[in-house]
Amino acid sequence: MNFVETRGNDGKKAKKVTFSEAIKNPGASFGGLYVPEYLPKIDNDFLKSCISLSYKEFSKKIIELFEIDISEEVIKNALNLYDKWDDKENVVPLSKVEDILFVSELYHGPTRAFKDMALQPFGYILSHLAKEENEEYLILAATSGDTGPATLNSFADKENIKVVCIYPEGGTSDVQKLQMVTQKGDNLKVIGINGNFDDAQSALKSLLSSNDFKEELQKRDIKLSAANSVNFGRIIFQIIYHIYSYVKLIELGEISLGQEIYIAVPSGNFGDALGAYYAKKMGVNIRKVLISANSNNILSDLINTGVYDIRDRKLKKTISPAMDILISSNVERLLYDKFGEVRCKELMDSLKNNGYYKLTKDEHESLQKDFRGYYCNDDETKHYISEYSVKNYLMDPHTATCIKAYDDIKCSRRKTIICSTAEWTKFAPAVMNAISCDHKTKFSDIEALEGISEIMNTKIPKSISNLFSTPILHRTVIDKENLKDEIYKFLG
Ligand SMILES: *Cc1c(COP(=O)(O)O)cnc(C)c1O
Repeated sequence: MNFVETRGNDGKKAKKVTFSEAIKNPGASFGGLYVPEYLPKIDNDFLKSCISLSYKEFSKKIIELFEIDISEEVIKNALNLYDKWDDKENVVPLSKVEDILFVSELYHGPTRAFKDMALQPFGYILSHLAKEENEEYLILAATSGDTGPATLNSFADKENIKVVCIYPEGGTSDVQKLQMVTQKGDNLKVIGINGNFDDAQSALKSLLSSNDFKEELQKRDIKLSAANSVNFGRIIFQIIYHIYSYVKLIELGEISLGQEIYIAVPSGNFGDALGAYYAKKMGVNIRKVLISANSNNILSDLINTGVYDIRDRKLKKTISPAMDILISSNVERLLYDKFGEVRCKELMDSLKNNGYYKLTKDEHESLQKDFRGYYCNDDETKHYISEYSVKNYLMDPHTATCIKAYDDIKCSRRKTIICSTAEWTKFAPAVMNAISCDHKTKFSDIEALEGISEIMNTKIPKSISNLFSTPILHRTVIDKENLKDEIYKFLG
């Protein structure tokens, strides 16, 4: 299968590219993204044939449908990385929380957030391609906390790839920061920026648009790639687990083959949600994908009003920071899929030039056929965490935003899968604050981890508790003006 561009072709780039080209150079014409030329279809017979497969076998079957230009051997090695998960026989556990409520736990990998699901195999494949072509790639990542650790862990000591990861000093949780600054790997550079996430991101953006940066990379024969979810190499792995959880419901006897369900997704950059939409389009009977946001409710607004409007909006800091986003990159792939490249470009241009776009009535209705939008403020989120902790199920603040959606649709009696994007350990202070009777204290990460572990009678995973005694390897903290020089120093 080939990949095409969401905003059409500028006459300079190829009109269609292979999967490997799309993941090495993820930027398409006019600032667009790459999308598959078509989505393969799956039917009930196919789903039936998947019952009882391991997650790895299942993934292989789905990837085969896309007919990408990556050898079977490489895909096999990439998928073998799921052996690092807590239970390699059960990579994505599906927990039954209530009669019709299930949680798909996507966080049992090395950095305890769902980003590992895609970044681990993606990192292997990208490094393999770079090695094969004898090319050197630089990945630049700005993180508010989850993408950084997952990217660093994935690419550590991978050949032909270097990673520079920028985080806001003081803007992440202790656990997230420790995951980054203790990460081993000679090809990694972790840099704290004095400022907030916006400062880190804008430092990265100005770097990417600077000509002398491009020249310096060229001199060193280094190419730039990207590991965020604008890269389709991540999206493909984010379709798989949605279909897998559906099959798991059949296997468990919770639904019959082909029965309709809901999927609820905590959403920021819309990668995970897009994966669910693609799964629906491929043939999984998902009535609607329920999009959950926090007070930065740009996505729920789009679905509920048909307008995407960032004018007069300021990013709000919430207890679900991975969803503190105003420009949600993967919505573009949805717009392309629904309305085609010409309209997609028109809408994206309007967002860039005017700060908003407005769908027509028909377009808006088309979105509402597949999605519903919800958002929670922090108090509501804490309330849901507390409510379910009393029912003995612990959720992180991102996952918990989905309960509002569930509460709204549960009268339909349809089985509902919530995608759990992080383990409670990554956001322990907010979770402790929600579940303890002491709502006032500001807990440190370690106090909160221990407190929750005691209240819930649950263990802190070793990969988290060990962080506090692991040597710190990265100590660079700089002003954003000095970022370029710091990177040149690292590249040599
Ligand atoms: C990245 C992340 C999200 C948002 O995922 P998108 O695919 O960008 O929508 C939600 N929750 C957690 C914990 C995350 O790390």
